[in-house]
Amino acid sequence: MDSSVHSYALTAALAAARRGLPVFPLSRAKQPAVRSPHHADWPRVPCRGECGRIGHGVYDATTDADAIHTLFAAAPWATGYGIACGRPPHHLIGLDLDVKTGTDALGVFESLLAAHRIVLPPTVVVRTPSGGRHIWLTGRPGHTVPNSAGRLAPGVDVRGTGGYVAGPGSRTLHGAYRLAPRSTRTPAPAPRALLRLLTPPPPTPPPPPPPPSPAHPDHQPPDAPARERRADALVRFVAASRPGERNARLFWAACRAYETGHGPDVAAALVRAAVSTGLPEREAAATVASAARHTPP
Ligand SMILES: [Zn+2]
Repeated sequence: MDSSVHSYALTAALAAARRGLPVFPLSRAKQPAVRSPHHADWPRVPCRGECGRIGHGVYDATTDADAIHTLFAAAPWATGYGIACGRPPHHLIGLDLDVKTGTDALGVFESLLAAHRIVLPPTVVVRTPSGGRHIWLTGRPGHTVPNSAGRLAPGVDVRGTGGYVAGPGSRTLHGAYRLAPRSTRTPAPAPRALLRLLTPPPPTPPPPPPPPSPAHPDHQPPDAPARERRADALVRFVAASRPGERNARLFWAACRAYETGHGPDVAAALVRAAVSTGLPEREAAATVASAARHTPP
């Protein structure tokens, strides 16, 4: 274990804590580094630190310098630190734009912002080892942003209440987390329209899972060309959207349609499907147009 990596992470964690961000040590695998005091217990104890000991992952996160030293001393193998999201005073929200899986999450996210006319204020941007970005924003007291993966847009994961992001100065098996050029030092408030997108609607019955390819036999003759069946699946995927996810699902479906070259044929049907879920027509058309611009011909 290279002790300089450990002390570098500790120094960076203390600096984050001075800005009001609660931190805890992470291992090289980006997991909480302090061993759970309950690791040998069977059955598992549901404990979020009520026992008074350390080793409860994100629930250990603190801004207290002495407590941070104690946490890092208990995990000399720690090479990074996590920042707990959703906690006062900042109520941090981490947007994880992933590029690992071949998704252009950065471009997708920019298009999503453009479709909603959202202008992101200068804020903290962390470059991840894979070349992705973490965008940090602050939320509001009493406003819970849930964690989600790919709900906002493909390749965009949201870290909210109960989640955490690796802080700049962390080192993992895959490399280092660093502040991106032009990043600010403190996170800026999330624009109101973005907060709305990040907050799910009140619970409704879950929609049917999106049928990616095989068409429903009632709706399509068995010999319908595969591309027509795929287009039909995209339209049904949009039609099954719930409020709060309508735009993201429409955008995703339109991107897939334009990628496979049948965007122009299917655009009107996608807009109609989105309108049937209650999305205003102008908004739906703008989202599809944005997907068309985003997708290379
Ligand atoms: Zn405990």
